[in-house]
Amino acid sequence: MSEKIVICKSCGKPEYWGEMIWLSGKCMCRDCYKTELELRMGSDYIWDDLNGKRPTREEYEAQEGVENA
Ligand SMILES: [Zn+2]
Repeated sequence: MSEKIVICKSCGKPEYWGEMIWLSGKCMCRDCYKTELELRMGSDYIWDDLNGKRPTREEYEAQEGVENA
């Protein structure tokens, strides 16, 4: 697994680039998308297609080659 990890601009959490979702001209992670949908629907998002593994901050930093400062 070497899928590119990006930081969601909305919530600042790492997400796989391939899982980022465009909505209303914004690119957001699955968590933000789910929150946005729940706001629009006025109810909980009950489907599980947005579940699954999220990348961790550590994985993102490893990808970016960030050393502990
Ligand atoms: Zn997000």
